[in-house]
This record gives sequence, C-alpha cells and structure tokens, in this order.
Amino acid sequence: MSLPTLLVTHSDFARHPTPPGHPESPGRITATLPRLRACLPKTIRWLEPEIGTSDLLRSVHAESYIERIEKLSRDGLVLLDEGDTFAGLHSYETALLAIGAAATAIDRVASGEAANAFALVRPPGHHARPAAAMGFCLFNTVAAAARYAQKKYGYRRILIVDWDLHHGNGTQEIFEEDPSVFFLSLHEYPLYPGTGRASERGKGEGEGFTLNLPMKAGSGDAEYGAVFREQVVPAADAFRPDFVLVSAGFDAHREDPLGNLMLSERGFAEMTMRIREVAERHCRGKLVSVLEGGYNLDALARCIDAHLCALEAKESPPAGAGLRLR
Ligand SMILES: [Zn+2]
Repeated sequence: MSLPTLLVTHSDFARHPTPPGHPESPGRITATLPRLRACLPKTIRWLEPEIGTSDLLRSVHAESYIERIEKLSRDGLVLLDEGDTFAGLHSYETALLAIGAAATAIDRVASGEAANAFALVRPPGHHARPAAAMGFCLFNTVAAAARYAQKKYGYRRILIVDWDLHHGNGTQEIFEEDPSVFFLSLHEYPLYPGTGRASERGKGEGEGFTLNLPMKAGSGDAEYGAVFREQVVPAADAFRPDFVLVSAGFDAHREDPLGNLMLSERGFAEMTMRIREVAERHCRGKLVSVLEGGYNLDALARCIDAHLCALEAKESPPAGAGLRLR
C-alpha cells in the first residue's frame, strides 16, 4: 500500500492575534479548516503537531530576539519591527507550534510513515530575519525546519522552494552563505520586501545556492509553467536534494488582495507536481511543505485543496489533462 499524504494542523493556529482588518487573520485558520474537512479526500491523513522547542528556534534566531517575542506574547497587541507585524497574547506559543508542525511533518516523512506532508500553520515565517520580525512573520518556520532535517536526520542537501507572492528575504539571509541549503524563490518583483533580484545568488561558499526568479506583475500559470520547465526543475535536479521543503504561500493567486500575479489553483497543483517529481527523482519523494501567505480566504482553501491533492496524486496526469479539482 502506498504511503499517505499528511496534513499537519491545529485550531490553535488561530490564537496568534492581529488587529481587525489585518490580512494575516485568525480567519485563515478558522475559515479554512472546516472547508478542508468537507472537501479533502478522506485518504489525506490529518495529524496534530507537537509543540516546537526553543532549541529549534535557536538554530536560526538570536537568543535575545526569541526572549523578546516571548515577553511580548504575555501582553496585549504590539506592532513589531517592520511591515505590519504584530505580536500579542499567545503569539510566541503559536509561532512555536508552527515550527513544531514542520518538525512533526519531517519526522513522519523521514521515518517512512508518510509520503509527504503539508503543515497548515500561522503566522507565516519566510520574512523573519535572525533577529527581527518582518512582514507578518515572527519566527522563520521553514529555516528552522531545514536545520532540524539536517541535524536530526543527517540530510546534507536541503532544497527550499518558495513560491509565495513575496520574496523570502529572511530565509535567503539565513542561508545565503550556506551551500547545504539551496534557496529557490519565485516572487512578484518589484514588490514588498524589495529584495529578490536575479543578481542575488548567495555569498561566499553559498554563492550559486540562492536562485531568485523575479516574476512580472500579471504573470500566471503559463509564465510559471515555463519558468518551472526552463529554470526551477533543472536547477533543483542539479542540486540533487536529500530532502525538499516548500514555502507554500498562495498569495500569488489571481484573487489574492496583496499582489498582482494571476496563478490559478491549477497552476499551484502543477507546480506541486513538478516539485514532487524532483523529490521522487532524488530523495524518494521526501517533501514537506509549509504554509506561508494567502489572504483571500476562499482562494486559500481552494489552493490548499489543490496542493494536497497534487501531493497525494499517485501518478502525474497526462500532459494537458490536469487534475480534477473541485
Ligand atoms: Zn506573501
């Protein structure tokens, strides 16, 4: 029997507070989980995360910064460093639970209990810098996940594919001098946070292990498909990853309020398949994907459904046939 695809999530991800009207709202959890319960195939296995440890945080963040977020999470809502990023009651525990969800997903995939997994978490993480919150992100979940996979399981080469609308500047900064983590990002450019030019390719020993693929406003499934074929898949194959992580933001969807990209659910499913095939070619399919952005609640649920169905699909659809998406 083939191994299941996991959905690692918890209703407690709604506990991190943001002010009314903020796009990164608890509704991203409270509205999405019931919809997924209703529409996802029953073969997708739901799993609750274990809480992350402060050791995981310390693998990518400064001690003083971790303490600061912990302290702020005992009081009311405060605006942090940059880009509409808030912390308040329960923010620390919620961000730690997000890292725990990624670690739980890696455990199940590494041990061979699951084929692959998606961690549906908030707050997002890819803008978080070693000692600063940024762009709705407190702790860098995918970066901590990469370090965890390396330390606990000895995977040497970790590929992180980030297709969130925005450039994952925090993840890039954490790994830019590290040739063991290949950070590959597609994002609208120019747009917040202003980084992610094609000329940013890593530094020192890490030179060549950062690949930025800026996308013009208006780009959609066709443009992403071409960039995947011509650049993403060849670069990922050349790296020969031991484990694949995806920073899966869905704010590049055409209905999302924050950007100007035009991807459809089908486009996200296609990208998922292409990256899954990379994982199958190099590391027996070992792939863990982590939610980043996605702010139209209706589109978010449809995109996650499409992403999970593509992670689970037993074989690639014939060219042009596409997946049957509800
Ligand atoms: Zn984003």
